[in-house]
Amino acid sequence: VKDSGRNGVSFFHSDMEERSLERILLENELKKAIQYEQFRIDYQPKLDLATGKVTGMEALVRWDHPELGRIAPNKFIPIAEETGLIIPLGEWVLRRGCEQNKHWQDQGYPPLKVSVNLSARQFYQPDLLDMISRILKDTGLEPQWLELEVTESIFADIDNAAAILQEIRNLGVHTSIDDFGTGYSSFSYIKNLPIDTLKIDASFIRDIHRNKESHAIVKAILTIAQTLNLSVIAEGVEIPEQLAVLNEDGCGHGQGFLFSKPLSSQDFENYLKDLPIT
Ligand code: C2E
Ligand code: CA
Ligand code: CA
Ligand code: CA
Repeated sequence: VKDSGRNGVSFFHSDMEERSLERILLENELKKAIQYEQFRIDYQPKLDLATGKVTGMEALVRWDHPELGRIAPNKFIPIAEETGLIIPLGEWVLRRGCEQNKHWQDQGYPPLKVSVNLSARQFYQPDLLDMISRILKDTGLEPQWLELEVTESIFADIDNAAAILQEIRNLGVHTSIDDFGTGYSSFSYIKNLPIDTLKIDASFIRDIHRNKESHAIVKAILTIAQTLNLSVIAEGVEIPEQLAVLNEDGCGHGQGFLFSKPLSSQDFENYLKDLPIT
């Protein structure tokens, strides 16, 4: 900070200013983006590791700004969460994802589950259940073909979280805990929670093939999941060495660049067309 150039102090200042300017800019652009529908969704396949079959896909929002270009979700989702814009944006993603999934089913592709990320802010909206039911009704998607991915951050209010998760289950919609192992995930939390799937965070998968500790954590998650009757998916599977370990450990599902990057809806459809007929 002190001497990063001709004038360290003003450098520091301009850096701070720049950051908040960027932030204000993005906030404003985000509002317009919702209005002008600058968003798209990419779909990343999820596979059954034992059979190699595709079982579902995660909907990942994409923002292509007309002047600024592609803006990464890790950049704009936190702003959308803080400003509350995640509410309309998240609803749009859910609706679009369900619509698209139903469309593929109607086209005759084997039925898949679409997973949609739900931020904590959305999870605690009083009309969450109404919104989900409405979207399922409007799109005609049966609830078992929808999964909501929530992060451990919702467990800050564990009793409330459990009640809402139960209501989601009552709708027939599946839930999974995203980035599992990185947050509040003391195993005691998940003991009585009505959830279906643990999604092992990519940080454990990254070095699972060469780090004893990561491998031990993954094995512990698989054991607990088996005991609690939960399914497991590993995210961020990039190389065959990681897949080999996951197969050996009996991990049920996987997702990652090794299988496919997130694809535009058109590319995802081509991917479905190219799958071997079984
Ligand atoms: P996430 O939910 O953990 O999603 C997985 C991220 O990992 C995605 O990044 C995906 O493109 C990336 N990924 C998938 N496979 C691999 C791999 O093998 N290696 C590596 N290095 N990365 C891989 P993306 O699309 O940039 O999204 C980042 C985060 O933004 C998401 O993390 C999620 O937290 C958030 N996000 C994205 N779409 C939505 C949305 O519609 N709603 C909400 N609330 N959050 C979203
Ligand atoms: Ca996710
Ligand atoms: Ca994740
Ligand atoms: Ca993440």
